[in-house]
Amino acid sequence: MSERFSPKVIPLVEARPSTLAVPQAWQESANLVAPNGLLSDTRGRQLRDLRISVTDRCNFRCNYCMPKEVFDKDHPYLPHASLLSFEEITRLAQQFVQHGVQKIRLTGGEPLLRKHIEVLIGKLATLRTPEGHPLDLTLTTNGSLLQRMAPALKAAGLQRVTVSLDALDDAVFRRMNDVDFPVADVLAGIDAAHRVGLGPIKINMVVKRGTNDQEILPMARHFKGSSMVLRFIEYMDVGATNGWRMDDVVPSAEVIRRIQAELPLVPLEASNPGETAQRWGYADATGVYDPQAGEIGVISSVTQAFCHECNRARLTTEGQLYLCLFANQGYDLRSFLRGNATDAALSNAIAHIWSGRADRYSELRGAMAPDPGTGARRVEMSYIGG
Ligand code: SAM
Ligand code: SF4
Ligand code: SF4
Repeated sequence: MSERFSPKVIPLVEARPSTLAVPQAWQESANLVAPNGLLSDTRGRQLRDLRISVTDRCNFRCNYCMPKEVFDKDHPYLPHASLLSFEEITRLAQQFVQHGVQKIRLTGGEPLLRKHIEVLIGKLATLRTPEGHPLDLTLTTNGSLLQRMAPALKAAGLQRVTVSLDALDDAVFRRMNDVDFPVADVLAGIDAAHRVGLGPIKINMVVKRGTNDQEILPMARHFKGSSMVLRFIEYMDVGATNGWRMDDVVPSAEVIRRIQAELPLVPLEASNPGETAQRWGYADATGVYDPQAGEIGVISSVTQAFCHECNRARLTTEGQLYLCLFANQGYDLRSFLRGNATDAALSNAIAHIWSGRADRYSELRGAMAPDPGTGARRVEMSYIGG
C-alpha cells in the first residue's frame, strides 16, 4: 500500500463530488408519484426537513470546516452561474413542501454572504404546507453579519436563527475562526437577533478536545437563563480536509458530566420526532427542571447515531440533492430544472430519489473498515451545508 493510501494519512484535498443524473424514467409522467405529504424512504423515514446551502463561500476559516491551507485565495469557488437562483430555489422548495417538508434551514458556507438573501427569505416565507401552514423557516450563521442584518431578515419573514459560537474567550474564538474575528461582534449579533425577535435562538458550539473544551462551562454559565438554547456538537468526520481524529472528539456524555458537576441537569423529552439534539434542563434546588433557567442540548453525531430518525434532505448551492451529510454523490436537480422540467416532473424526481434512500452513515461508522478512499470523495460541510 502506498503512503498516500495509508489509512493514517488524511488527504488535504477538497472533493467536488461527482453527480448523479436524474434517470429519464423518473421524469416521465406515466410514472408520476402524486405528492401526499407522506413520502418515506426505504427505512420508513419521512421527508420533513430541507437544508438549503446558498453559498460555498465564508468569511471564517474554522479549522474543523474550511481549513486555511485548503480554502486559500486560490480555492476555486463556484461561479455565479452555477448557483441556483432564488427563483430556482423557491420552485424546488415548493415541490419539497408538497412532499412533506415542514422546515427549511438556509446554510452554507456563510448564508449571510449571499447577496440579497432577504429576497430569498421573502419568497420562501410565502410557501405553505398542504395543510396551509407556514414553514418553520430558519438559518444557521456564524453571526458575523447578524448585527447589521437582523432587522432585514426578520422583516423578510425569517422566524429564528441558529448562531455558531465555539468560545466566549476572545483569544480562543479568534484562533478557531482563524481570521481574527472578535467574539464581541458575534455576541452583538446574537443580541440584535434577540431584540428583533428571531427566536428562540439556538447557539451551536462544536467541541474539539484541547482546542475549546475548556469553554464548555463558561458557555453554559453564560447562556443559562438567557432563553437561548446552547447545543454542544460532537466534532464530526465530515469532508476530507479537517484532519479529523477520534481523539479530538469530546463525547456528549462527557460534556454533560462536566456541566453536571457545577450546574445540575435533568433529562428532558424530545420536543419533536427527528430532533437531533438530546435535551437537558437545568434543575432547581429540589432537582426539578426549572424552565426559567432553561435547557441545553447535545448533538452526539459520533457517539450516538440518530440516523434511524433522520428526516433531512440537503440541497447544495449548485442544486445537487444529497440524502446524507456523509454522502459522496448527489442528484443533479439543477440540470433537470434548467432542462425545462415541469413542476410535476420535479416533484416526481424528488419522490423517486427520497423513496430509494437508505443512507445511515453514522450508524455504520463504527462497523466500517478503514477506507482511505472514502474521505477523499466525501463532500465538504461548507459545500453541502451543515
Ligand atoms: N457558516 C454557518 C455557521 O457556521 O453557522 C453555516 C454553515 S456551517 C457548515 C453549519 C454548522 O456546521 C456550524 O454550526 C458548524 O459549527 C458546523 N460544523 C462545521 N464543521 C463541523 C464538523 N467537522 N463537526 C461538527 N460540526 C461542524
Ligand atoms: Fe464558515 Fe461556518 Fe464553516 Fe466556520 S463552520 S468555516 S463559519 S461555514
Ligand atoms: Fe442523517 Fe446521514 Fe447524519 Fe445519519 S449520518 S443522521 S443519515 S445525515
